[in-house]
Amino acid sequence: MEALPVANLQAVKESNRNKVFRLLFAQGPLSRVELARRAGLSPTTVSSLVAELLAERVVAETGPREARGSGRRPTMLEVSADGRVLAAVGVDASGLSAALLDLRFRPLAARTTSVADFAALGDALADAVAGLLAEAGRDAAALLGICLGVPALLDAENGRILASTVLMLPEGTDAVGRLRERFPGTPVHLENDSALKAYAEQVFGPRGDARSLVYLDVGAGVGAGIILDGRRFTGAYGHAGEIGHMTVDPHGPLCRCGNRGCLEAMAALPALSRAVAGDGTDGPPAEALLQAYRAGDPRVRAVADEGARILARGIDNLVALINPQVVVLGGEAAGFGPDFLAAVRAALRPLALGAGRDRVELRFSEIPGDPVALGGARVVLDRAFGA
Ligand SMILES: [Zn+2]
Repeated sequence: MEALPVANLQAVKESNRNKVFRLLFAQGPLSRVELARRAGLSPTTVSSLVAELLAERVVAETGPREARGSGRRPTMLEVSADGRVLAAVGVDASGLSAALLDLRFRPLAARTTSVADFAALGDALADAVAGLLAEAGRDAAALLGICLGVPALLDAENGRILASTVLMLPEGTDAVGRLRERFPGTPVHLENDSALKAYAEQVFGPRGDARSLVYLDVGAGVGAGIILDGRRFTGAYGHAGEIGHMTVDPHGPLCRCGNRGCLEAMAALPALSRAVAGDGTDGPPAEALLQAYRAGDPRVRAVADEGARILARGIDNLVALINPQVVVLGGEAAGFGPDFLAAVRAALRPLALGAGRDRVELRFSEIPGDPVALGGARVVLDRAFGA
């Protein structure tokens, strides 16, 4: 009978600690008295929780609020700007982009590293995080957590990459082991990169009120991140949003996944480049393809606009299934520019049953900065203090 109440007390205490932090995050600066009132906790409880949060360097005391009248001026509390830090690393076919942010999501350091040998990915990840810490003048103890975003099917619980048509890593690759060895005691989270981009769009984008949003991530592959009912939706086993392997033409080209006519095999940038070349070779690199489209190259326009029509078919399916308020077209394909977005929009079917397609807002991402870094940093904060 003794152990259970202690465990319950711990859970209650942790939940109260998270509540106090989240109040300061959303509404700070606040005094201890205001915190107690808004949290519905006693002043004594709040004082002891605040003492812990101060010791953890996630909360800081700031100057007293301007005096109103002649009353005593309380010390104000806010989320610390120079204490703990959030690290996020996105991996793609060319390498990795790592960022270090403070607890208010302001960038402290960022770096992009090419990775020649993905077998040594773990070391490259750990080196990138260590480099960011050095650049920002922080030590490893300042890390609140690290979030890794990869274009892959994941076993997030065990930190493993199950399959990726972009990275082509062996099944079961341990993605986080080296990070955990190099940064012992620091939580390391593994997420699908498109899911992080969707989350960043919801949290930091212009439609923070969007209850349902799909981020269609078109680059070396095609993926989607899904927000459903205001929450990240990753499916029963974390694999939701694998729209790249939805069949759009059963007689289409062979996909790297082994099936034919997948959306990714027909509309991802490598597929478009191959179609531009037309001779079985790889064709132009992504950046040259995007640039030629923007410059109005007629062959590239014809190929990419056909890609836009195929993407629209994928979006039609998503809209029918999820009925999102917002579909964000993101990833490298956003580099095609507004004409490409217009081509996708023009190819969307009017939905049957009167659910007008014009109610779905289709647009490019509008958040400033790297969406994997922002989404990943937010996941670190959520895991530390409850979502
Ligand atoms: Zn496929």
